[in-house]
Amino acid sequence: MIQAQKGTKDILPEDSSTWQMMEKNALTIFNNANFKEIRTPIFEATELFARGVGDSTDIVNKEMYTFEKSERSITLRPENTAGVVRAYIENGLHRQTPPVKLWYKGPMFRYERPQAGRQRQFHQIGVEMFGSTEAISDAECIYTAIKYLNSLGLNDLDVEINSLGCPKCRETFRNKLKALIKPDLDKYCEDCKVRYEKNPLRILDCKNPQCNELLNTPDIQNLINTDFICDECAEHFSELRRYLDELQVKYSVNKQLVRGLDYYNRTVFEIKSNNLGSQNAVCGGGRYDGLVEMLGGPPTPAIGWAMGMERLYSLIEKQNPPKLDVFVVSDNPLKALKLCEELRNKNISCDFDYGARKFKKQFEKAAKLANFAFVLGEEEIENNTITVKNLTSSHQETMPKAEAIAKFC
Ligand code: ATP
Ligand code: MG
Repeated sequence: MIQAQKGTKDILPEDSSTWQMMEKNALTIFNNANFKEIRTPIFEATELFARGVGDSTDIVNKEMYTFEKSERSITLRPENTAGVVRAYIENGLHRQTPPVKLWYKGPMFRYERPQAGRQRQFHQIGVEMFGSTEAISDAECIYTAIKYLNSLGLNDLDVEINSLGCPKCRETFRNKLKALIKPDLDKYCEDCKVRYEKNPLRILDCKNPQCNELLNTPDIQNLINTDFICDECAEHFSELRRYLDELQVKYSVNKQLVRGLDYYNRTVFEIKSNNLGSQNAVCGGGRYDGLVEMLGGPPTPAIGWAMGMERLYSLIEKQNPPKLDVFVVSDNPLKALKLCEELRNKNISCDFDYGARKFKKQFEKAAKLANFAFVLGEEEIENNTITVKNLTSSHQETMPKAEAIAKFC
């Protein structure tokens, strides 16, 4: 038998109410805050991710599903910021009055080692906000993430924030960090040796314990803990912290937080749950003021985040699938289907038995599936009535058809 691919999972009917709830809450919360949904293709030119995510990242170097079609290199999206930025530029959304606030949901693909909380096809939900450098937009962005998590009943969260500064102030930090790492460079992992050349800050994000150990020297820790960022960036970061304080968001500053993608500047943040194992990050995001321009658009500041929906799913209370309003019990399948269609037109959910089996069997099925049974026997058909049975209390009553239907409208 052909089985699902390693690192992929079916979302079964019994799970879908919970997934629908996650999506419904997103729709409500994001719509209320003026985020508009955007849906972009699942595959894009490989070049988009190479440039937009960055060729010093694990995503681009190791995790992409890339294939050739008609001599074009195509990649299944490993994340959605690059795709949204491409769509934003290509469709002229930058001509709208800023800020342009967007959200998305959908599957992402990364060739990773599957484990709890880590799949090869997984789902993200995310927001992107274009056109504002103001720290208040950073605050709203983070606040929206927390509000969404709270709406799912998730309150035990650690919010970590940091500022990476701008390319100018980062340069000094970068050089100092390189100088401190250099003497031990041969002891760092192979990935970090590449990062050292391409994007040394990412060494701070390495998950290899030996690299972590090597970073744990007083000199390097002192450097991480100095306020290297320039006055303007420091002012932006302190404004953000003030707004978060005013909004009563609990957070901590983690100076070692750099995030996996190459394009971030200034604000970066991560939200972790204490109830997940080692894959404990549910949300990651940050400001990426240079990306729109780098991908061919006009200079446009932007900030966004993405959440892993499988990780959310594993944390939240599962929803029971809703019961049908009505199950039609009848020995005349055609009449039963016609009644069902009449009910469905009135937005009453219902079903019936194709086989016109014994009423006892049909009632058993009705009790499993629905809140009420509409009994349509010979007598009812003749008199244009329905016997309505409450399947919880077993109370039943025969009434004119119109009256039975009106009960649910
Ligand atoms: P991690 O450190 O867990 O690898 P990341 O930095 O690669 O995360 P992002 O690219 O920022 O993650 O994606 C945002 C969120 O998407 C993560 O916080 C996580 O919840 C989720 N996520 C990322 N990769 C996976 C995966 N392979 N399977 C399931 N969820 C994932
Ligand atoms: Mg990752």
